[in-house]
Amino acid sequence: MSQKTPVTRFAPSPTGFLHIGGARTALFNYLYAKRHGGAFRLRVEDTDRARSTDVATQAILDGMEWLGLSYDGDLVYQSQNADRHVEVAQTMLGNGHAYKCYLTTEELAAAREKSRDAGQAFRSPFRDSKAAQNSEPYVIRFKVPTGQTKISDQVQGDIKWENEDFDDLVLLRADGTPTYMLAVIVDDHDMGVTHIIRGDDHLINAGRQKIMIEAMGWDVPDYAHVPLIHGPDGKKLSKRHGALGADAYRDMGYVASGLRNYLMKLGWSHGDQEIFTDAEAVEAFNLEGIVKSPARLDFDKMAYVNGQHIQMMDDAELLKAALPFLTEVNGGELGDAKTARITSAMDELKPRSKTLIEMGEQAQYLLLNRPLEITGKAAKPLRREGATDLIAALTLKLKALEDTDWSADAIQMILDQFVADNDIGFGKIGQPVRAALTAGHKSPDLSQVLTALGREETLGRLTDASAHNPEG
Ligand code: GLU
Repeated sequence: MSQKTPVTRFAPSPTGFLHIGGARTALFNYLYAKRHGGAFRLRVEDTDRARSTDVATQAILDGMEWLGLSYDGDLVYQSQNADRHVEVAQTMLGNGHAYKCYLTTEELAAAREKSRDAGQAFRSPFRDSKAAQNSEPYVIRFKVPTGQTKISDQVQGDIKWENEDFDDLVLLRADGTPTYMLAVIVDDHDMGVTHIIRGDDHLINAGRQKIMIEAMGWDVPDYAHVPLIHGPDGKKLSKRHGALGADAYRDMGYVASGLRNYLMKLGWSHGDQEIFTDAEAVEAFNLEGIVKSPARLDFDKMAYVNGQHIQMMDDAELLKAALPFLTEVNGGELGDAKTARITSAMDELKPRSKTLIEMGEQAQYLLLNRPLEITGKAAKPLRREGATDLIAALTLKLKALEDTDWSADAIQMILDQFVADNDIGFGKIGQPVRAALTAGHKSPDLSQVLTALGREETLGRLTDASAHNPEG
């Protein structure tokens, strides 16, 4: 491994969303650069103008931003470097590493077929011809030299190709536009990229690209080709496995730090450690830990890791991330009182929420509006003989507790005392009170429910419940 300060890059083609596999590739590049004090660059590979869209570019940028993968330096749009790509193709033409190929579409098809039948890579009859200097349309092709090409991939190990197996690829099309293969090596060189970490579907391109890089006399980057992500069933990841875009995971209530942690661990191992803070991730990441076999998505594990990160987040940061989900449950903006309730309930909400959607469900009891609609099974405890009288009696006791003394401990003491004074089991009062305060929605310990709701809301909900008997 070379000692150079790394410059890594993520080079997505903007034809869709930020794919979950792309997000992991970006993360590995990001972590590797940070680990070694280098730079992480972002390049939008939009040379295929027909397939690239601004919407897709924006989706990728948004996904990167949400995931916290900030890039260094300017964002590079590959299409803007077209002149430079042409210049390099001309240089290769000049130094004999490329040639003009005048084959028409039909001739090309025939020549290809001939090569295929002979079991050989494609070679144009124009590669050695000095003849054609006419003005016919032509493409510029790379002239693959004889010999072998080897790379020492950081993940895949040593790989060797016979050059005769590589086609003479087009560098510049007849309309003068550069191809992907040319654009990539030029941009990587111009951006000073030292380490290429990408999906192993590009492994063979590393061989092709290395020959071109050497033809230009440029430094060859280090390569690490990462196995792709598979679905839980071990098959190539596809739509039927569920969400593919990073934005879909955000919508499912994953927090960015949780998804980062999960993706980092997906196909990368580091002893038994599962949970990494960002600082720990940067400290630990290396290319040696990348596993050679395809990683499988495991949604249970993803949820577990996410839950751990929800617990680790500070309240303000978590509230910010959860706000869209809470607003949805609330059916509109929260307002001050409900925000205060959520804030005071954070400690009990965190361990009960693996995703922000779950957090919305767990917080629902805090977001109800008075008078609560308590129906069906949820209303049963309130219909029991004497239940509303007991609630009324308890409400009086609770009223005596000042707002400043309204704490889980003080409330628990009142509840215990009430149970003892009335010589009843806890459930006798606990169940109707819970029904009156939560309308059957998910909720934590009763004293926590009362604490999070606050004195005024608690007394209000209890009074509502004791004031009218729910219909049977
Ligand atoms: N633009 C290519 C892709 O999206 C990646 C090229 C590369 O990483 O070299 O698959």
